[in-house]
Amino acid sequence: MFEKREECGVFGIFDDPEAVQKTYFGLHSLQHRGQESAGIASSNGEYISCYAGMGQVGRVFRAGRGILERLDNPIAIGHVRYSTAGSSNVCNAQPIMGEYSRGQVAVAHNGNIINASMLRDEYEAYGSIFSATSDTEVIIHLVALSHENSTLDRLISALRRVEGSYSLLVLTDRELIAMRDPYGFRPLVLGRLKDSYVVSSETCAFDLIEAEYLREVEPGEIIHITQDGIKSYAPFKKVNRKHCIFEYIYFARPDSFMFGETVYTVRKALGRQLAQDTYVEADMVIPIPDSGISAAIGYSQEANIPFELGLIRNHYVGRTFIEPKESIRHFGVKLKLNAVHDVVKGKRIVVIDDSIVRATTGKKIIKMLRQYGAKEVHFRVSSPPTQYPCFYGIDTPSRGELIASSHTAEEINQYMGSDTLQYLSVESMKKAVMNGSGDYTYCDACFTGSYPSKFPWNMQLEQMELFVKR
Ligand code: SF4
Repeated sequence: MFEKREECGVFGIFDDPEAVQKTYFGLHSLQHRGQESAGIASSNGEYISCYAGMGQVGRVFRAGRGILERLDNPIAIGHVRYSTAGSSNVCNAQPIMGEYSRGQVAVAHNGNIINASMLRDEYEAYGSIFSATSDTEVIIHLVALSHENSTLDRLISALRRVEGSYSLLVLTDRELIAMRDPYGFRPLVLGRLKDSYVVSSETCAFDLIEAEYLREVEPGEIIHITQDGIKSYAPFKKVNRKHCIFEYIYFARPDSFMFGETVYTVRKALGRQLAQDTYVEADMVIPIPDSGISAAIGYSQEANIPFELGLIRNHYVGRTFIEPKESIRHFGVKLKLNAVHDVVKGKRIVVIDDSIVRATTGKKIIKMLRQYGAKEVHFRVSSPPTQYPCFYGIDTPSRGELIASSHTAEEINQYMGSDTLQYLSVESMKKAVMNGSGDYTYCDACFTGSYPSKFPWNMQLEQMELFVKR
């Protein structure tokens, strides 16, 4: 999918002489999860220092400014962000720091607290002053105003009031606390590096720093890491786990091991299933890079049609390139993607993408392929039609902007100008993801509208869409 939908990534390490350097590297591995801001908070056992700024990790911590050196402490957490809640502003960059009667606290959050604005209104009425607009700051206020003694107990009481999704790292002067919401929407994994514990959104960060993967932080689990070792708590009511299936389809890095499977393997299985369901005679299968690559390999192998890189992505165009004026706006997609003339000319092509949001980019790509001489273009999507918004930490548009919420596949085919367009069905997606295990533990609400948790005040979907825009 080329129409970006990103979220956040978190990384933490306890008691390592190079904790900050390793957090910096870990954040580089998680950069795909958010490119808007990055930050690191670290503790020397007495005092927390924090630095966060706008832009990618390399830019925020660029060499020569001495930032990493100033943060150099043995306990650290880090965050990369894309704004799913709260505006794109440096005051919302994480980790977010707070200071209350029991000392300092820094928080790095991946997810979305869906009742954050209700809680915010309530606490502002009591006199709390919020410095940012992100949902994460609410957690700090809940912790500060809790009547419990320890930070751990305060966190537990705070999280009992919170609805939505969170994979959360909390740093105090001497503790690192990692926790995941009871549904386990967002990933969070625990690892070990010699005598240190590490936590990360994805295992690809462990590979980079050569940490050993131990296990997932379980849904609803709180892991408390101190000099005395590691303790695990499960204070919340158990519910059926609902891992975000979109992590498999699009968000996570293919080399990460997540929810019990390697992401690449799952994406290939989705592509294989897509080929079984939607086979078409063609000369080649080409992915929309990068996220369509794994599914296209699966499709190509299953359909026995050669895989080609017919589209090449320019990796050096950031999110913020200046929008060209109207007369040359059609150049836009070519800034990011170009087709290889000789590869596509005169060919019958199956184009694989992982999902369709508004279909505007797909339309431009198909037009470009035809301009370059493609004979037939068959568009195949390795997930079902995206019809519903996400309230659990993925930045999807509202239903009004999701083309599949108001148009059939054939109408979208006509709009995009492809010869044929087919999606994976919900049943086939489930089959591919379960891989014969019989165990389906995923949220798929953006395809089915079946949201795992109730909305605040029992709101209906329409009200909820307005509510989250507040
Ligand atoms: Fe993931 Fe979609 Fe569920 Fe959001 S609604 S958590 S994107 S599956």
